[in-house]
Amino acid sequence: MSTAVLSDEIVVTNPATGAELGRVKRAGETEVDRAVRAAHATYLEWREVPVVERARRFFKFQVVLEEHLDELAKIVANENGKMLPDARGEVRRGIECVEFACGMPSLLMGDSLEGIARGIDSQTIRQPLGVCVGITPFNFPAMIPMWMFPIAIAAGNAFVLKPSPQTPLASVRIFELFSQCGFPPNVLQVVHGDRPTVEALIGHPLTRAVSFVGSSAVARHVQSVAVEHHKRVQALGGAKNFLIVMPDGVTDAAVENIMGSAFGAAGERCLAGSVVVAVGDAAEPLLAKLRAATSKLKIGAWDTDGAQMGPVISEQARERIVGYIDDGLRTSELVVDGRKNVPERGTFVGPTIFDNVDPSAPLARDEIFGPVLAVVRVPTLDAAIELANRSTYGNASSIFTQSGGAAQRFAHAIEVGMIGVNVGVAAPMAFFPFGGMKDSIFGDLRAHGKDGVAFYTQQKVVISRW
Ligand code: NAD
Repeated sequence: MSTAVLSDEIVVTNPATGAELGRVKRAGETEVDRAVRAAHATYLEWREVPVVERARRFFKFQVVLEEHLDELAKIVANENGKMLPDARGEVRRGIECVEFACGMPSLLMGDSLEGIARGIDSQTIRQPLGVCVGITPFNFPAMIPMWMFPIAIAAGNAFVLKPSPQTPLASVRIFELFSQCGFPPNVLQVVHGDRPTVEALIGHPLTRAVSFVGSSAVARHVQSVAVEHHKRVQALGGAKNFLIVMPDGVTDAAVENIMGSAFGAAGERCLAGSVVVAVGDAAEPLLAKLRAATSKLKIGAWDTDGAQMGPVISEQARERIVGYIDDGLRTSELVVDGRKNVPERGTFVGPTIFDNVDPSAPLARDEIFGPVLAVVRVPTLDAAIELANRSTYGNASSIFTQSGGAAQRFAHAIEVGMIGVNVGVAAPMAFFPFGGMKDSIFGDLRAHGKDGVAFYTQQKVVISRW
């Protein structure tokens, strides 16, 4: 999609067609203040609702989401441009976070130890924080909000969500569905806008914690504003993910995985592989297979016959990506050119592959966030790991190999948070933590899993003598 500002309205459009899909209202300081105050008032009552009862409403929400999975997936496909199976997959991943939140009674359990001294016992208890806010990116309009608010609310918090202005409509519908499930009014709220709205949310005196997912530049900014206001913060940033292919790893299954990783969702995933590091003599047979696979990839809107790859999010994104391709021609060998043979209408870029890319070139270094794959050739696994570890990002990396020893060495030495072994998109499920290292995360605790529960709660230690 792309957005245009009309006074206080944000217009949401389909990136495949340019058609308007809807409008949302931009929240200024007054609306943010109202939302956070209302959320706080509800929190004071919600936190007293027994955790089993809080969890029970999420069982209901899970059922309602299942019933509306296809509808939500179509909203995502329309506003984001991704293919329907990808959109369904992301809604499914979001629902899994709700299922995880249903286990909150177990997740909130503390530790206890009898007899820490004569007649004295001790226990930990976990309690909610208050109002938590979430700021989410355009690329997973349904899943990423659901990384956040189900865990926060099941733990007893209230939540104010500010989705991406480029893809806010999935959040609007999820909010409507949530509102049918017996939760108290205002325990979840959705507000819209960009930087001023975010800063008003973070700076509000009643906001206790900030979850952010987006680009590294904004993640860094959000973290520093949050810290300045003494707020708890987790800010997940961008990525440059390296796919290491050993000579024994050039299989059809690996190629399918690499294609999905590099070109799935038009390369607009924080887990997208964007550099293939071909070890030894892996490059030639791998490139032959990749060339053949890309020639069959059909580009188009999700609802056109046989389409497998959709548009990128906006004209601005398309221009940025094409700029990287134009620039890459100066230093690298263009093997597949995604600037050609794309639909005229909409913001499409086709799959693009460069070979013999210099590891210090922007193609191998910057987050392009589009369907552009750089192939770098290195002699050894150690050289591949060393190259990947030079990145300022540390989100994800994968190895393709038949060797357990190579996979073990890679998993030990690679400096990323999410590792794939013969898996091109190493996406942790709801009960594991999601997040990277280095400039891919600002803050200590990752999204969902036990980290999510820890992030949205605070601990007390009780020491009792009777
Ligand atoms: P973005 O950083 O432009 O925007 C993210 C959110 O921040 C949006 O809600 C936006 O309105 C808000 N925002 C934008 N500029 C702001 C500012 N100056 N101050 C405060 N808030 C601001 O990101 P995007 O383009 O929507 O999403 C793509 C990025 O997200 C990529 O870099 C991708 O790697 C990253 N991402 C990371 C993960 C992860 O798990 N690490 C997951 C998904 C996406």
